[in-house]
Amino acid sequence: MAYTLNEKLRGLVPYDPGAGDYPVRLDANESFIAPPAWLREKIAVALAAVPYNRYPDPKAADLCAAFADYYGIDPAHVAAGNGLDEVLFILATCFTQSGDTLVTVAPDFSMYRFYGHLGECRLETYDKGESCAIDPDGLIAFCREKKADMLLFSNPCNPTSLGLTRDQVRRIIRETGCLVVLDEAYMDFSDQSLIQEAADYDNLILLRTCSKMLGLAGLRLGFFVANPVLTGAFRSAKSPYNVNALSQAAGTVVLREKDYLDDCRRRVIASRDALYTGLRPICDRLGWRMFTPQTNFVFLKPADAQTVYEGLKAAGILVRRMGAFLRITAGSEEENQKLIAALEEMR
Ligand SMILES: *Cc1c(COP(=O)(O)O)cnc(C)c1O
Repeated sequence: MAYTLNEKLRGLVPYDPGAGDYPVRLDANESFIAPPAWLREKIAVALAAVPYNRYPDPKAADLCAAFADYYGIDPAHVAAGNGLDEVLFILATCFTQSGDTLVTVAPDFSMYRFYGHLGECRLETYDKGESCAIDPDGLIAFCREKKADMLLFSNPCNPTSLGLTRDQVRRIIRETGCLVVLDEAYMDFSDQSLIQEAADYDNLILLRTCSKMLGLAGLRLGFFVANPVLTGAFRSAKSPYNVNALSQAAGTVVLREKDYLDDCRRRVIASRDALYTGLRPICDRLGWRMFTPQTNFVFLKPADAQTVYEGLKAAGILVRRMGAFLRITAGSEEENQKLIAALEEMR
């Protein structure tokens, strides 16, 4: 008898971020700011002191303390993962049981459903509809009707770049009653975070990443913030040495540079606003819908997304096409100008 893959694995294909060499990459929502030389030197000093022959700290205590300090929260409420993707995997497989109902919203970050599938969840999707925004009452009613065990969504949203207010999210947490996983990967670019009060709820897990505003996508660092019961459960469920020593050391150095990070945040927001302002007249002229962004990317609906996507690619600019929409990461001033110029030329 030949071995056959189980059903869960059979349809899966490896994640493909898209091959090819493009001078301008505005497709992955990374920061356009790489750590400058003085910061790279500080990181190098920290890396030189890493005991390579020893396992890393399973609690990533220094890293979590630096994160907690930057955001003004208690480190007892923080745990770290090998990127937010690992945290999501652990949540969808260990904080659910086979057959549990996982509610996600559409459109939203596509990996949620993938991990829910691996967790053998029953997947239910709340459709945001024409507005592309969550209606809190609609979502609460949906979760109740479907008897959700877990609700998982991003705020502000990837890919729409739209966000709910604090009060709207608070209501969703209270009134759905299920375990709510709130992915705040982009909240550094907005101002409606619940991170200060995350541990006050018994049913909230809040997520952050170093891949976006903090400009460290290559290190793979994600954070889990919740009350001590949930944080303890996460620490127990994760693999012991999930965050490697190099990433712990480098991430700790960068998270301690508050002024630098505040400056990065301002620069990325300025770039996002410039990109939006530059695209506005083009979208108005061509009748393309574009959403007011609350993240480090813009989301728009050209008349023909595929043609625009291919045209940009031909000009050496990679963006992300999602069905009839394009998601474009805010880049450096020069990258934004190249994108806008390419669109002007194409129309
Ligand atoms: C980028 C992103 C993540 C993944 O973050 P990593 O820490 O790089 O794994 C998670 N959620 C959302 C909404 C994202 O856009």
